[in-house]
Amino acid sequence: MENDLKDVQNSDGHVVVVGGGQAAAAVVRTLRAEGHRGGITMLSAERFGPYERPPLSKGVLLGTKVPADTVLLGAEHLAELEVAVHYGVTAQRIDRTNRLVYLDNGQSIGYDRLVIATGGRPRRLKLPGNATGEIAYLRTIDDALALRERMTRATRVLVLGGGWIGLETACCARELGLEVTLVEACTRLCERAVPPVVSDILLSRHRANGVDVRLATQIHGLNLVDGGTLRAAIGTEELEFDLVIAGVGMVANDELAAHAGMPCANGILCDAAGRTVDPDIFACGDVAAFTHPAGPASPARLESWDNAERQGAACALALLGKEASYSGLPWFWSEQGDTNLQILGYPEPLCIPVVRPQGGRLIFFWLKEGLIDAAICVDAPAEMLVIKRLVQKRVAVEAAQLCDPLLSLKSLLQSIPATDVVASG
Ligand SMILES: Cc1cc2nc3c(=O)[nH]c(=O)nc-3n(C[C@H](O)[C@H](O)[C@H](O)COP(=O)(O)OP(=O)(O)OC[C@H]3O[C@@H](n4cnc5c(N)ncnc54)[C@H](O)[C@@H]3O)c2cc1C
Repeated sequence: MENDLKDVQNSDGHVVVVGGGQAAAAVVRTLRAEGHRGGITMLSAERFGPYERPPLSKGVLLGTKVPADTVLLGAEHLAELEVAVHYGVTAQRIDRTNRLVYLDNGQSIGYDRLVIATGGRPRRLKLPGNATGEIAYLRTIDDALALRERMTRATRVLVLGGGWIGLETACCARELGLEVTLVEACTRLCERAVPPVVSDILLSRHRANGVDVRLATQIHGLNLVDGGTLRAAIGTEELEFDLVIAGVGMVANDELAAHAGMPCANGILCDAAGRTVDPDIFACGDVAAFTHPAGPASPARLESWDNAERQGAACALALLGKEASYSGLPWFWSEQGDTNLQILGYPEPLCIPVVRPQGGRLIFFWLKEGLIDAAICVDAPAEMLVIKRLVQKRVAVEAAQLCDPLLSLKSLLQSIPATDVVASG
C-alpha cells in the first residue's frame, strides 16, 4: 500500500489514538521516544489501562496476580509522556474530511494523525436454549475478575473452544480444583496455530491433567434449569454445569474504519507498519490486517503480545514519516499449567518438522534453504531465545545438527563470526 508520507515529515501535530490497549501503549511510548512534541490524546473505552492481557487467562484467573500487576503505562508514566487519556469513552465515528473523531459522550476531538488501535472483542455464541446470556467470555480485566469470582463458586465447568484462551482457562479451572469438560469442534486442539504433532502433545497433557477433552464435538443447546444449573446438549449427551466459558475466537473492532469508508477485511487493511489508504490514519495491533513479510500472501491479523508491541512501535515511526520496518518472524507464547509453549514464525502444518528432544522438552524446527523458517518450543523458553538469535543472524543450520541433543544450540551461534555475535548483543 503506497502513501505519500512526505507531508508528515517532522510533523508535530495532534495525534489521537483510539484504544487504550497494548498497541496504543507502544504507539505513544514510541512517539515520545522518537521526539514527537505535539499533543497526544488516548481514547480508551475501558476504565483503566493500558494493561497487558496475557496474565488475565493465567495469573489473574488463578488469583496469583492482581490487576495492578498487568499495568503497562501507569498514570505517572502517562503524565510524564504528556498523554491526555480519556477513560470510559468510545469513539463512534470518524469524519475523515474534517479530521474529527466523534465520541459516545457527545463530544468530538480533532486530529492531525489518527491511530486506530481498537483490538477486538470475543466472538459470541448464539445457541438454542434460554442460557446463551450466561456464557462467560474473557477479554478484559473486568471479565477476568468476574470469571474468577464465578469460578470460586463453581464445581463443574464447561469450556467451549480448544484454542489458547480455552486451554489456558481450562488449566486455571483445574488448578482451582474444578471439574472441567472442554469441547472443541475441530478434530484437534489449536488447529489454526500448530501442527498435529503439537496438538497431540497438548491433548495428552490436558487429559493427564484431568480435563475431559472432547474433540470433533459441538454444543447444540444450553438451558438454565433448577437452581442456576446449566444443561448443555453436547454431541448426543445432556450434561450439567455451574459455569460455561467460551473462547471461540475474536472479532476485530474495525467498524470505525469501515464506516468511514476505509477498506476492511476481518480487520483494517494496512501495511506492516500500519499505513492505511488514508495517509492520516494508521492501524495497529489485533485490529490490523496486513501482509506480514514472512507470512501468508493475503492480509491477516496477528493476535499476539509481540505484534501489538512491535507493530505499535512501527506504526508510530511511520506516522512520524520515519523509516518504519516491521520484519522478523512473529512470536507467540502460551502457558498452560506446567506447559510453556512458544511459536516463532509460521509453522507449516503439512511439512514434517525437524524434532529436537531436549532433556524431556521438545523443539520443532521448520527449515527453508538451510535457515530456520519457524520453530515451536515445548517447555524450552531459554532455547527459544537462542533460536530467535539464530534466525535474526541468519545462521545456516542443518537438520542433523538441530536433532542432536548433545550439540548445544548456543554453539551454533558461536560458529558465526565473533563480531556478529557481539553485535547481536
Ligand atoms: C485473555 C488473553 C490472554 C492472552 N494471552 C496471550 C499470550 O499468552 N501470548 C500472546 O502473545 N498474546 C496473548 N494475548 C493476545 C494479546 O493480549 C493481544 O494480542 C493484545 O492485547 C492486542 O493489543 P491491542 O492493543 O491491539 O488490543 P487490545 O489490548 O484489545 O486493546 C484495544 C483497546 O481498545 C479499546 N477500544 C475498542 N474500541 C474502542 C473505541 N471505539 N473507542 C475507544 N476505545 C476502544 C478496547 O476497549 C481495548 O481497551 C492474550 C489475549 C487475551 C484476551
